[in-house]
Amino acid sequence: MGRIIDQYIRNAEERARAEKIEALAARFAERAAEHDREGSFPHENFAELREAGYLKLTVPSEFGGDEASLHELVALQERLAYGDGSTALAVGWHIGQVLHLRTTRKWPDRLFSELCQAIVADGAMINTFASEAASGSPSRGGKPETTAIRQDGGWLITGRKTFSTLSPILDRFVVTAYIPEEETTADFLIYKNERVTIIETWDTIGMRGTGSHDVVLNGVFASDDSRLSGKGADDGGGWLLHIPACYVGIAMAARDFAINFAKTYRPNHLQGPIAELPMVQQSIGQMEAELRTARSLLYAAADRWDQEVDNRPFLKPELGLAKYVAVNNAIKVVDIAMRIVGGASLSKTLPLERYYRDVRAGLHNPPMDNTVLHTLAADALNETK
Ligand SMILES: Cc1cc2nc3c(=O)[nH]c(=O)nc-3n(C[C@H](O)[C@H](O)[C@H](O)COP(=O)(O)OP(=O)(O)OC[C@H]3O[C@@H](n4cnc5c(N)ncnc54)[C@H](O)[C@@H]3O)c2cc1C
Repeated sequence: MGRIIDQYIRNAEERARAEKIEALAARFAERAAEHDREGSFPHENFAELREAGYLKLTVPSEFGGDEASLHELVALQERLAYGDGSTALAVGWHIGQVLHLRTTRKWPDRLFSELCQAIVADGAMINTFASEAASGSPSRGGKPETTAIRQDGGWLITGRKTFSTLSPILDRFVVTAYIPEEETTADFLIYKNERVTIIETWDTIGMRGTGSHDVVLNGVFASDDSRLSGKGADDGGGWLLHIPACYVGIAMAARDFAINFAKTYRPNHLQGPIAELPMVQQSIGQMEAELRTARSLLYAAADRWDQEVDNRPFLKPELGLAKYVAVNNAIKVVDIAMRIVGGASLSKTLPLERYYRDVRAGLHNPPMDNTVLHTLAADALNETK
C-alpha cells in the first residue's frame, strides 16, 4: 500500500520535488517543538528553504522560477506542514502570493519583475499585512486605520498591523492603507527601514513559529510607483488553498502518529496492540473518512483552478468549500488521533498536543467559516432555473 500523503503525486518530476521537500520537513520536525516552546521564528528553516530553491516555486519561468501549479503547491505545502505547521503556513503566504501575482499581474510590471528577480537571485520573500486590531479580518471588508498621506513624490504611511506573519524575515511587504483625500483603500509596497518597527506581540496557543507580530509604520515613505494598482485579472483567490493544505498536512502527521502508536502500544492486559481493537479501528476509519473527504475536495478545487483559467472567478464557492471542509476535518482528525492515543496525547514530550493547538488556527485564516457559508447561501439563493 502506498502512503496516503503520496496519493496526489502525478509524475516523476512531482515525486522528485516532493521527496526533496519531505527531507526538509523531517528536519523542520526536529526543531518544531523548540520553536513552539520559545515562540521563536525558525530562521534556519527559511535558510534551508531558500537553499533548496523552494522560495521560487511559483515564480514565472521567464524569471527563472519553477512556475508550479496550484495542485503542486498544495501537495508540497501539505508535506512541509507534516513536519512543521508554522513554517508551512508562513512560507505558504509567500509562495501563494507570488502565484496570485503571477496569475493576476495586478502589480505594475516593473515591480513584479523586480520582486521575481530578487526571489530568484537572493531568496527575497513577500507577504501582505492587512489585518488590524480595529478592522479585524480584511476578508470581511473592514477599513484600515493605517493611512497614506500625500507627499512630494509619494506617500507617508502610518499605522499598526497585527498578525504580520513572516515579519522577522521580510525586507519588503505590502500594506493596506486608507487614503483620506481619495476616500479609498490601496496597497503599498514597503521596504523595511528605520521607520518600521516590529513589536513582538505574537504569543498564541498555536502557530507560534510564524513570527506573526505587530508591525508599526511610523510615517514610512512609499514612492508614487509603490502604490500597487490592485487591478488585474480576478483569479478567484485560488492561492489561498495554501491554507487548507497546511492544516491537512498537520492532520496527516497526527493521523500517522496515532496509527503508529496504535500498532505498537500493547497494554499488558491485551494479547496484541490496541490497533486490533474494533473501537480503535473504528476511530482510524473515521480519521480516514475525514482526511480523504478533505483532500478530495482540496485537490479537485486546485485542479479546476489550474485547468479552468477563464472560470477562476466563479470557483470561489468551490475554493471556499475546500478550505471550510479541510480545516474543520483536520481539527476532527487531530481530535480523533488524540482519543486513540489516550492520556499520553496530552504530554508535552509528544507532538500531538502541538498539532492540536496549531490546527485550531485554521479557523482564523481566510476565508472564515461564516464567510464560506454566506457565499454558498448567496449562490443557492441566486440560482436561476
Ligand atoms: C496564524 C495566523 C496567521 C495570520 N497571518 C496573517 C498575515 O500574514 N497577514 C494578515 O493580514 N493577516 C494574517 N492573519 C490574520 C487573519 O487573516 C485575520 O485577520 C485574523 O485572524 C482575525 O480574524 P477574525 O475573524 O478573528 O477577526 P474579526 O474580523 O475581528 O472577527 C472577530 C469575530 O467577530 C465576528 N465577526 C466580525 N465581523 C463579522 C462579520 N462581518 N460577519 C460575521 N461575523 C463577524 C466573528 O465571530 C469573528 O470570529 C493571520 C491569522 C492567523 C491566525
